[in-house]
Amino acid sequence: MSQLISHKSLEALLSEQLALGVDVVAPVLVTPGLPLYRHMPPGSADILVRGFSSNGFVRPRNSIKDFLFPRHETLMTYRLSAHDVDLHEAPLPEQPLLVLGAHPCDAAALPILDHVFHWDCTDAAYEQRRALTTVVTLACTTHDDACFCTSVGLGPAAEAGSDALLLPLDDDTYEVRPLTDKGAALFRGKMETSERIAEVPRGPETLVDPEWMRTHAAEHFEDTVWAEISARCLGCGVCAYTCPTCHCFDIVDEGNAAGGCRVRNWDSCQFCLFTEHASGHNPRSKQSQRQRQRVFHKFHIYPERFGAILCTGCGNCGRNCPAGLGMLNTLLELSEAAGMEQP
Ligand code: SF4
Ligand code: SF4
Repeated sequence: MSQLISHKSLEALLSEQLALGVDVVAPVLVTPGLPLYRHMPPGSADILVRGFSSNGFVRPRNSIKDFLFPRHETLMTYRLSAHDVDLHEAPLPEQPLLVLGAHPCDAAALPILDHVFHWDCTDAAYEQRRALTTVVTLACTTHDDACFCTSVGLGPAAEAGSDALLLPLDDDTYEVRPLTDKGAALFRGKMETSERIAEVPRGPETLVDPEWMRTHAAEHFEDTVWAEISARCLGCGVCAYTCPTCHCFDIVDEGNAAGGCRVRNWDSCQFCLFTEHASGHNPRSKQSQRQRQRVFHKFHIYPERFGAILCTGCGNCGRNCPAGLGMLNTLLELSEAAGMEQP
């Protein structure tokens, strides 16, 4: 037996959540006529429709991490007086959020990010947003050439990080699989019991072996292959900004003689200033070292430290890279250079 919901009921659920004052984000077509989608507030329920479709491959340019780990975030404000500094910590987030129609590879990034945001100290704002967020994923019925979720142990109907998974049955109906209490509460009373069960899509073929990459990266740290592969990298950071798992940030004070604020902004290991010291020395002065760092961090350092690969195979880095790089291409080129036949 299964639980089903129609597209119309899904729109009604979205309207209901908006009326309750819940923030909602979903894949939205940004410019009609161009295949450019973003996870963003849909505005009204009917805008949701084609960005949330089982027809064709829709991959928003951004990832849902934007809503749990914002690009810019004020940590505290301060006012200066003659003999004192008046500090105010930023209030913790209070607004509930529903993420609707995320790809499983986007949701899977959240439990991976949890490791680092709960590591040596707990990031209170991130933790609060996680608690306030309900994630409803939509299983992928198709994929593009950049997808490699199955290579990192995920797949088109992976459940990690999701509160409820929707599997398309036909153009108008979804099978609902609640996965957590939050997901069950959201769909309670909205589903119909049926004997129809959705097929779980197969997804892309397995293309790379992350375990091979973990050891290879460590044993070939000084290889010239890194320079060869990354020669065309522009250092723009698009790969990191569109990646659901990249999480580097910088903290800066912005203010004047009267006061200001301390702000956390996204950063990227692909930027030349990322590791530059105050002395002017830069331990990663070449772009090839920065590219190597990105691969190394995702497939060696993070798995060694947390037991999780810092990549969900979503392909966003490859899809959006202006130089045609991206993690999958890089891994395949590394394998080829090593004469390694991937599975
Ligand atoms: S790999 Fe591509 S997206 Fe990333 S910094 Fe280099 S050029 Fe930019
Ligand atoms: S490294 Fe690329 S493929 Fe992996 S999660 Fe980030 S954007 Fe997706």
